[in-house]
Amino acid sequence: MKCSICGNEAVHYVPYERLYLCKEHYAEWFEQKLVRNAKRYRMFDGSRRVAVAVSGGKDSTTLLHVLKKHEGEFGFTTVGFYIDLGIDRGTKYSEVNLEVVKRNFEEVGVEYRIVDLKGEYGFTIDDAKRRINRPVCSTCGVVKRYLMTLAAEELGADTLATAHNLDDMAQFVLSGYVYGNLEHLSRNSPVEEPERGFKVKKVKPFFLHYEYEVLHYAVLMGYQFVYDPCPYSEEFRGVSQHKLLMSMKRIEGDTPGFMLNLVSNFERNIRPMLYREISGSGQVGTCKICGRPTAPGRDICSFCSIKQKMLAVRG
Ligand SMILES: [Zn+2]
Ligand SMILES: [Zn+2]
Repeated sequence: MKCSICGNEAVHYVPYERLYLCKEHYAEWFEQKLVRNAKRYRMFDGSRRVAVAVSGGKDSTTLLHVLKKHEGEFGFTTVGFYIDLGIDRGTKYSEVNLEVVKRNFEEVGVEYRIVDLKGEYGFTIDDAKRRINRPVCSTCGVVKRYLMTLAAEELGADTLATAHNLDDMAQFVLSGYVYGNLEHLSRNSPVEEPERGFKVKKVKPFFLHYEYEVLHYAVLMGYQFVYDPCPYSEEFRGVSQHKLLMSMKRIEGDTPGFMLNLVSNFERNIRPMLYREISGSGQVGTCKICGRPTAPGRDICSFCSIKQKMLAVRG
């Protein structure tokens, strides 16, 4: 097939726009989609320093490169960080990712920080898996959320960018409907203004990019990233969640653009109403250990509570 724009050999087809694209025009289309969505949803209004959470996978590696490339159009400086969670399980997962992420930081040329969970907080996710009776991915989620906002603040950033893609968002929206979790739904925005005591705005610039689009772009650009998923991801992918995603992909196959419409219409028409109805009512607390914000009604944050348990079982 020929590129719909220049007539050269096409390498990518966009089914929901019936567009064939050569390598050069696919790259341009992919990047402009991010720039357009970031502007439309005002992701970087007022942003001066944007910290990218980079894990070493395709999504966050690509986000780092693309934001750095287009930072001038928005007038911010890109910085990055990696959280070394100490996941090994015979695969050296965190170690391998750390090396790849460092190489990307150096190549792109950004200021960065490596957060060392073991060195700075005294435990790893592998330790937590062994010693705390709680699903490991739930522990890991708490730890990552806490350290991500902290790392962004420590880098002097006003904005934290994470690499959630359209598949992540569609799965989230659909399961929110299925299980009726309106509180969660109301908060999962591509742009979360700093609130409830936090200092950084959180943005998801890839929230309307399909996972396969990000993968294809990353491969075409020759980025170094880690293909292997976290060794715990099998435990996390609940059967029902996985089935939901597979079903959505089947519908997508029959109706190109289904997931895109699901998420963009949710964000434009539904979530703002939910947000007005539900959110912003709870009173923010302050963690009496670390001094950072806690969920309403709690005096110790989830992170400190995990840390306490880890230090207690060790002693
Ligand atoms: Zn072309
Ligand atoms: Zn705390």
